[in-house]
Amino acid sequence: MALPTIQLFNTMTGQKEPLVPLKDGELGVYVCGPTVYSYVHIGNARTFTVFDVVVRFLRAVGYRVRYVRNYTDVDDKIIKAANEGGETAQAVSERFIQAFREDAAALKLLEPDVSPRVSEHLPEILSIIRALIDRGVAYESRGDVYFQVSRYAAYAKLSHRNLDDLRAGERVQPGEQKREPLDFALWKAAKPGEPSWESPWGPGRPGWHIECSAMSAKYLGETFDLHGGGVDLVFPHHENEIAQSEAASGKPFARYWMHANFLDLEGAKMSKSLGNVVRLRDALGRVDAEALRFFFLSTHYRSPLNFVDKALSDADARMEYFYETLRKVDERVGGKEFGAGPVHGAPGRHLAAFLAALADDFNYASGMADVSALFTELNELTDRPPVKDKPVVGRTLQALRADVRKVAAVLGLFEDAPAAWLLRRRDRAVREKGIDVARVEGLLEARRAARAAKDYAASDRLRDELKGLGVETMDTAAGTSWKVA
Ligand code: AMP
Ligand code: ZN
Repeated sequence: MALPTIQLFNTMTGQKEPLVPLKDGELGVYVCGPTVYSYVHIGNARTFTVFDVVVRFLRAVGYRVRYVRNYTDVDDKIIKAANEGGETAQAVSERFIQAFREDAAALKLLEPDVSPRVSEHLPEILSIIRALIDRGVAYESRGDVYFQVSRYAAYAKLSHRNLDDLRAGERVQPGEQKREPLDFALWKAAKPGEPSWESPWGPGRPGWHIECSAMSAKYLGETFDLHGGGVDLVFPHHENEIAQSEAASGKPFARYWMHANFLDLEGAKMSKSLGNVVRLRDALGRVDAEALRFFFLSTHYRSPLNFVDKALSDADARMEYFYETLRKVDERVGGKEFGAGPVHGAPGRHLAAFLAALADDFNYASGMADVSALFTELNELTDRPPVKDKPVVGRTLQALRADVRKVAAVLGLFEDAPAAWLLRRRDRAVREKGIDVARVEGLLEARRAARAAKDYAASDRLRDELKGLGVETMDTAAGTSWKVA
C-alpha cells in the first residue's frame, strides 16, 4: 500500500509542506514531555493528546513511527517543591512520573517507545556541552557554562524573532555570569542543597534546553523528522534546542516543527504558575476519558481551545450519542450473517474524508465533522425497519461499523463496548446526582408488572414518578432500559 502524503504546517517555514520522512516509511517523533513537579493539568493533556493522535494516525496509515517523549526530572521547580516538602528532588520527580503514567493511561495516551529522563542522560548532555565549548560557541564562567548566541548565525530562525529586539528586551540578571544577555545556560554550577553531578567545570546540573538536544539525538539521531510541543515552547526552548544541536553536530536538527496551541481557562492560558488549572485527574473523575479526548480534538490544534465547565458535559453528552448509536447498530447487526453483496450508497466515503482531513495538517475539527456524518448515516439506517431477504441495510451497517473501528484506532474514541460505556456513564451520573438506584429498580419492576397486566395508566404514572427522580425510561422490543435524564 502506498503511504499517503501528509501535509504539515511547519513552524519553521510558516507554511504547510509535505511531510517527507528521512527514511522511507519511517518517522522519528520527539515531543517535549512534562516537568514532573506536580500533577499535569488539562492544558498539558490537550498538547499530549494532539500528538497522541498524530502518532496513532501516522501508524494507522502505514508509517513506522518511533515516538519519544521525555520527562524533565531536573528543574528549579522540582527542587523548590522538594525543599518545601522536606523531600529529595528525586522523590518528588519519581512520584509525579508515576502520577503522570497513571493519568496518561487513564486518558488512553499511547505509551511512547522511549520515555527518557534527564537524570539518566548526564553523559550525553556533558558530551554535547564539551563539543560546543570545543567549537567555540559555548564558554565556561565560574562553574556555569553558557551558549554564546552571537556565535550561532541562524539563531531565532524558528520563532522568526528579530535579534536586535530580543537583545533590547534582555538584561543580564544579577548573579548571572553571562557575556551577553541572550546567552543561555547549558550547565549551572551547584548551589548548596541542590542535586548535582560531576562535570569538567565542577559539580552542577544541566540547564533546561540541553536535555532535549541530548535525548533526541540519542534516540532518533542528530537529524530527525518531527519535533513537537506546546506553542509556549517555540521560544526560547525549541530555539535553544536548535542552536545547541546544530552548533554541536554541524547538521540540521528536526526537519519539521509542530506546535499545539493553548488550552485557556476563561481567556487566560491554563498554567500552574498562574494557578488557574484543572488537573487532568480531576477532569477524569467527572467525565469519561473519551469525552475529554473528544473535547480536545474538536478544535484545530493550532487554535486556542477555551475551557468552560459546560464544555465537558457537552462533550460527554455527544459521546453518549455516539455510543447510543453504536449500541443500536450492534444490536441490529450483532450475530447476523449478512454475507457478501451490495451496500447502500458509498459508505466508505466518510472514512475517506476523515483520513483526508487528518492528512491535511491534522485537521481534527474537520475530521470530526466527517465522523458526525458517519454517525448520522448509522442512525438513519438503524431507524429503517429490516426488510426480509433484502439485507442491504444490514450490510451497509456492517461496512460503516468497520469504518468506525478504523476511526476509533486513530482518535482513541469509540473503543469501548457500547453497553459497558453507557453503563459506566450512567453509574457516574447516578453517583453525581445521588439517585437511589434501589428505589429506581423497585419502580421499574412495578412498571413492568403494570405493563404485563396491561394497566397502562399505572405504567404511565410510574414512568412520571421515575422522571421525577431524574430517570428516563426507554421501552424497546428487548425490554425497558433506563438512563439518567
Ligand atoms: P510543562 O510540564 O510545563 O513542561 O508542559 C508540558 C507540555 O504541556 C508542553 O508541551 C507545554 O507546551 C504544554 N502546555 C503547558 N501549558 C499548556 C496549556 N495551557 N495548553 C496547552 N499546552 C500546554
Ligand atoms: Zn524540549
